[in-house]
Amino acid sequence: MRVLVYGAGQLAQMMYLAGAPLGIEVEAVDVSSDTVVHPVSKLPLDASLEQAIEAADALTVEFEHVPERLLEQAEKSNKLMPSMEAILVGADRVREKQLLETLQIPNCSHRIVTSLDELDACISALGDKLIIKASRDGYDGYGQWRLTSADQLEEIKQALDGLDLSAVPLVVEKMLSFERELSLIGVRSQNGDIKVYPIAENLHYQGQLHVSVAPAPKVDAALQQQAEDIFKRLADGMQYTGVLAVEMFQCGDQLLVNELAPRVHNSGHWTLTGSDTSQFENHLRAVTGLPLGDTGARSPAAMINIIGCGTFSRELLSIPGCHLHWYGKTVRDKRKMGHINLTAENYQMLGHKMQQLVAYVPGEAFPKLAEEAQKLS
Ligand code: ATP
Ligand code: MG
Ligand code: MG
Repeated sequence: MRVLVYGAGQLAQMMYLAGAPLGIEVEAVDVSSDTVVHPVSKLPLDASLEQAIEAADALTVEFEHVPERLLEQAEKSNKLMPSMEAILVGADRVREKQLLETLQIPNCSHRIVTSLDELDACISALGDKLIIKASRDGYDGYGQWRLTSADQLEEIKQALDGLDLSAVPLVVEKMLSFERELSLIGVRSQNGDIKVYPIAENLHYQGQLHVSVAPAPKVDAALQQQAEDIFKRLADGMQYTGVLAVEMFQCGDQLLVNELAPRVHNSGHWTLTGSDTSQFENHLRAVTGLPLGDTGARSPAAMINIIGCGTFSRELLSIPGCHLHWYGKTVRDKRKMGHINLTAENYQMLGHKMQQLVAYVPGEAFPKLAEEAQKLS
């Protein structure tokens, strides 16, 4: 079987690696040049995009910001999973909020803004602590502006001046003070079967995911159930096929949905070693019509992103239960270069292993590691 993935980054690479034992061949599309490439070497393959679409059993995406003309072409083949509509929900915060409202899923108080003059009314309605988000093309905290007091409004308006807000509106959200950030990764098959992984707790730094711990500590059955209900309503509501990630904020015992990712997700990388079936394998199983695999956690697991850093000792692999996943990209500031997965018998041991890891990696590149290690151990 063959699956064509739009996007040729690390997620396509990890799908390729998961597909190999199943005999599923994964090819990637470099969407900046419309070329079909090998997901690991990134070297061009001997097929045009049209030929690769024709030869594939399923088409899917590794990120939501695929040019619409490519999504339209893919959708016409009737092999695109999830659907173009679901991908656009993840790519466009206006559609995303509309879906959440339609399905009555709790989310952050917000306004959709199509001209800068409306920002004053947002302060009256939502308060003067706001996160202003471009509705398209944002990730890792890019395309966001934070307002922490009303007197910053003029400065922010200047920064936003020149954006065509009638074409690409802003989503203005109340800045929440939440307990923590959680995510639920789940998968829905073509015939509507659903399996979800345990909730992960995510630590962000400067708008970017640094560490995930799964199963998230201190999740009672009611909270896991609340997250699963949200997932089911979303996945069924979109007639979704494949892995879907739901990012949430925990406020007291309530979950508010922050955003959706219509694909495998960074906060699900722990499943590579922490679960019976990785998110990458389950995504491939779903889009090729195979039965879904078990999503339980084998033991507490942590995923630590390697961000903007290429030099650290590979001796970290001497820590038991430690695995390195290196993406082979050129080092750039704030770029996700790889990740480290850790598993341990219990949270305390996990914290201890994270503390051991601190010795092998430069502290400034892993600002959340020591803090999380401390919390767990
Ligand atoms: P991603 O890389 O996850 O796609 P993104 O750039 O799309 O990120 P968001 O997930 O919307 O952006 O926001 C990034 C981070 O900013 C969140 O994980 C959270 O830490 C913080 N954040 C976003 N919205 C809010 C909010 N309304 N209140 C408080 N913090 C927020
Ligand atoms: Mg996002
Ligand atoms: Mg996010």
